[in-house]
Parts: sequence; structure tokens; C-alpha cells
Amino acid sequence: MDGLGALYQESILDHGKNPRNRGTVENVTAEALGANPNCGDRISVSVSLEGETITDVAFDGQGCAISMASASMMTEVVKGVEAKVAERLFSEFRRLCTEAGDVELSHDGLDGDLVEQLRVMAGVRQFPGRIKCATLSWAALEAALQGRDQASSE
Ligand code: ZN
Repeated sequence: MDGLGALYQESILDHGKNPRNRGTVENVTAEALGANPNCGDRISVSVSLEGETITDVAFDGQGCAISMASASMMTEVVKGVEAKVAERLFSEFRRLCTEAGDVELSHDGLDGDLVEQLRVMAGVRQFPGRIKCATLSWAALEAALQGRDQASSE
């Protein structure tokens, strides 16, 4: 199966139709907005942290099926994990979306099944215009977490 159709695999359609963690977390510790003008995606990510642990995370906004499904998968996999583990996973996920060949995704401190589910997004490699759709919510998460670092060091 080649072409853009291959991107719209079952798990993407499922997350697109039934997004997980849509909305805003109750106790917002950090939040950030990501925008992808080329596609029209706008995603806000809110995070609730206890110490270094992401106890709750949610996304809101509008966008294409890829951006919504990726945001939904992102919130599912990083909920309950350490901030630095989420940041490490994003750097691996970004490579998954951009590099050719096998990219190793570490399962350390994460639910392995949810991590492996992210591999469906590797399909965007063939469509450079869609890479940002897949990484937008992750970039917003990273910005939220980094904003929290700055706030706590001030
Ligand atoms: Zn998009």
C-alpha cells in the first residue's frame, strides 16, 4: 500500500474519530500552543505535573486527521511518565518521522505497546509536508515542559 492512503491506517482513523484526552487538564502546570499554518493545524497542549511526573496531559484545537491522531497518541503515551522521558521520546519520534530506515524507540519508563503504536506515523516520511502535522503536538508538549523549566528556575 503506497501513497497518502497508506498514512490513514486503522489506528490513525480510530484516534482521529475517538481522540483520547481531548480538552484541558484540571490543574494546568504548563501549556503551549502549536500552529502549522501550511496545513491549518492548531493544537494546544496542557500538562499537569507533580514534581517531574506528567500526571495528566490533554490537547485541544483543530487540524487534519494526522495532527489530531498524533496528538491523541502523544497524550496517551506520555501520561504518567517523567518529563525527561517524554522529551527523550519526542526526539526519537521526530527521527521516526524524518529519517529513513529503522529508528529505535526506547521503552524505558513507558508503555511499550503505546510506544510501538507511534510507528504508524513513520508514513509521513514520504510526505514532507505532513511531517509537521505529526510532530506539532509533540513540539507543543516540549514547549510546555520547557516553559515549566524556565518558570521554576526563575
Ligand atoms: Zn495537518
